Amino acid sequence: MTHTAEILSVGTELLLGNIANTDAQDVSVALSELGIDVRWHTVVGDNPERVKQAVAVARTRADILIATGGLGPTYDDLTKKTLAEAFGKKLVFHEPSARKIRELYFQRLKTEELPDHALLQAWLPEGCTVFENSCGTAPGCGFEAGGMHVLMLPGPPSECRAMLRTGAVPYLKSLSDSVLVSRNFRIFGIGESSCEQLLRDVMESSENPTLAPYAKEGEVLLRLTAKAGSEEEAGAMMAPLENHVREILGDLIYGVDVDSLEQVVSGLLKERGQTLASAESCTGGLIAKRMTDLPGSSAVFLGGAVTYSTPSKHRVLGVDETLLREKGAVSPETAAAMAEGARALYGADYALSTTGVAGPDSDERGNPVGLVYVALASGRGTVVREFRCGSVRARCRSIAVNHALDMLRRELLGLSQPE
Ligand code: ATP
Repeated sequence: MTHTAEILSVGTELLLGNIANTDAQDVSVALSELGIDVRWHTVVGDNPERVKQAVAVARTRADILIATGGLGPTYDDLTKKTLAEAFGKKLVFHEPSARKIRELYFQRLKTEELPDHALLQAWLPEGCTVFENSCGTAPGCGFEAGGMHVLMLPGPPSECRAMLRTGAVPYLKSLSDSVLVSRNFRIFGIGESSCEQLLRDVMESSENPTLAPYAKEGEVLLRLTAKAGSEEEAGAMMAPLENHVREILGDLIYGVDVDSLEQVVSGLLKERGQTLASAESCTGGLIAKRMTDLPGSSAVFLGGAVTYSTPSKHRVLGVDETLLREKGAVSPETAAAMAEGARALYGADYALSTTGVAGPDSDERGNPVGLVYVALASGRGTVVREFRCGSVRARCRSIAVNHALDMLRRELLGLSQPE
């Protein structure tokens, strides 16, 4: 049976625009990975009557309702009581949750006395599946009533995300006797529309497995999903389509079920026992940031220099002053000299450099916004490439870093560099 879901986010601060509704985003991502259609996102303030109205509407158009927020101990935390009433469920005291709440207050929060309302969180709808809260006090829950599955998750995003994984997803999986298996192809070096054009026929004709593109900043994510009786069966069903995608996209696929380009290059460097350094101008340290966001990156990333001004390119990296004067800071020659300077400075196997015009205006030499030179220096010499990364500053910088990391990936795998 196919399910349709509505997400009901409860919180006046969401309506006021004080916070963004990231819980709904997280829930939607998790549900789409389970193959459950999310048809509606509803936001309602901390008001029991309006929550009940929203529930009445949801019952007419979905069979799964996932509520976020309002599970805590304060007076405006009304979700559990209101939804229980709306679905004709009594609230009953759940001793294991109460024990956890007492433990948390006394042992971890070092409270002398339990606050008045703390144990309100342990009252849960009769017969529900309780979702433990590994990061906070309020448990969540899931139950079925009147043909609808109702799940409640806490508002704080870290609690919501953890409970989604440990409570809601297993609950939702148990509603289906088939499994849904996905493979996420991460693609860089081709736009979403070109990718779609190359694969349109299979995208349109495939029903199970399906192939669908998802938006990602500066890259493409293609998700291949199969529904079957077992994981093995789903894997076998996906294999021909997976091979077809690999044939068409080849080395534009930088990974399958990986998180990022930096994760891929970091893994390749680790496997080879090799190291990286960076010299950044227009990207202002983003290569270093993305590399060091990865735990354990000290094994491969030695350091990075942010040489934003022209004199610093000479003083820190030893780029020749005459070259800087004659060719300019934004030039292929300067990019190459920066990468070579960083490689020598840090004693790394590889060094990446970026120099360009992130915008919003062109530079004094008339170089257009979005022009970025990326260089990669290694024991085999230095390669430089010119890229057009667009006129929106933040996006331009992030795309330039993707290009730099992809050049390193290509070098490490012995693939040709982009033309
Ligand atoms: P608490 O135990 O902290 O009271 P709760 O489940 O009652 O948790 P709320 O009181 O509704 O949740 O929200 C607590 C905090 O969680 C909010 O101040 C806000 O920072 C965050 N939050 C709530 N709902 C959302 C949401 N939909 N998206 C992102 N953050 C949210």
